[in-house]
Amino acid sequence: MKLEGLHILLTYQCNYECDHCFVWGSPRQTGTLTLGQIEDILRQAKDAGVTSIYFEGGEPFLYYAILKAAVHKAAEMGFSIGIVSNAYWATSVADAEEWLRPLVGRVSDLAVSSDLYHCEKCLGENPQNAMVAAKWLGIPTGVITVAQPEEKSKESYDQLAEESAVMYRGRAAEKLSIAASKYPWEGFDSCPHEDLREPGRVHLDPLGNVHICQGIVIGNLFEKSLKQICEEYDADTHPICGPLLSGGPAALVMEYNLPHASSYADACHLCYRARDNLRLRFPNLLAPNQMYGALG
Ligand code: SF4
Repeated sequence: MKLEGLHILLTYQCNYECDHCFVWGSPRQTGTLTLGQIEDILRQAKDAGVTSIYFEGGEPFLYYAILKAAVHKAAEMGFSIGIVSNAYWATSVADAEEWLRPLVGRVSDLAVSSDLYHCEKCLGENPQNAMVAAKWLGIPTGVITVAQPEEKSKESYDQLAEESAVMYRGRAAEKLSIAASKYPWEGFDSCPHEDLREPGRVHLDPLGNVHICQGIVIGNLFEKSLKQICEEYDADTHPICGPLLSGGPAALVMEYNLPHASSYADACHLCYRARDNLRLRFPNLLAPNQMYGALG
């Protein structure tokens, strides 16, 4: 597996607790990387051939001093750097400039979450402040906007944001799927969002878990190097990815003869439910508790 991007979940903690969050971010959540761990991760990422690092969460600006030091270190090492944030900190344009100035020249993408889950408007005041300040400072920005359940994704919102349809996994499977239209489970015969064979980028959580999709682990970087995890990864023999590749979440259900309802909101909804049912059998591959709605 050739890896180009590593998305580092600096923390599972978030100041918000959005219904659509598929990593169950919350103020009550636990698990945060130390700077020493991040430095080790960056060295391993370099060794594995990674060129692009994203810092996300949870909300990475909750640990601002560590985020800033990590960005400086990653920039020194030559990585292209992005950050995903809900911009809670951008209470005015002037203040947002103060938060962002130390990142100038190092961050090439500030992706700001802004939608009805995070704010009362599609482009809330704090995200707007962050966007304006970033523009003045020359930091490229983007907006991540997730549609409400049942809304079709739109091509753009005021030319600023691409709106994505909600994916019914994580907290969205619990909170949002109830009201969604449902479709027969057998029809979910492929994974619509992830390249499980050659993903190009993976997520790394504060416990060292390397996720090919959030909650599906292919190794632990605190136990084995990222390079070795990538070299040893065989999608077809992975007990979860193998069935998903052969026939999507429906094949995962059939492979392990799992209980299931007659219909689900989308492929991720069935996948998430099936995986939750398999956690006792594959505790190291379907982990950690945080990704399945339990406090860590
Ligand atoms: S179907 Fe499963 S593996 Fe694919 S994106 Fe959805 S949750 Fe992830």
